[in-house]
Amino acid sequence: MSHRPQRGTPSLTSTDVLERVWKDFRAGQHVTCPRDGEPLALSIDASSTTYRFVCTQCGHASPVFEATADGVRVCDFSGDLFDPETMTDE
Ligand SMILES: [Zn+2]
Repeated sequence: MSHRPQRGTPSLTSTDVLERVWKDFRAGQHVTCPRDGEPLALSIDASSTTYRFVCTQCGHASPVFEATADGVRVCDFSGDLFDPETMTDE
């Protein structure tokens, strides 16, 4: 067993956490919010085949990501859902 030091509140915005959740999900396991342990819902964007986990309880959401052969690739850390300020036109 590997011993990992605790680094604050785990969050789905961490690629490590997101990847672990995604792998568990793909393996058919029950996935839960890293913050409160409530079930996560997977939101699928069919047009772009990207995914996003959202907690059914607290609303904590992962960034938009794509599934890759060895994990996940985060597409949109600073997209419209996460940083509305970037939408401001100069
Ligand atoms: Zn939650």
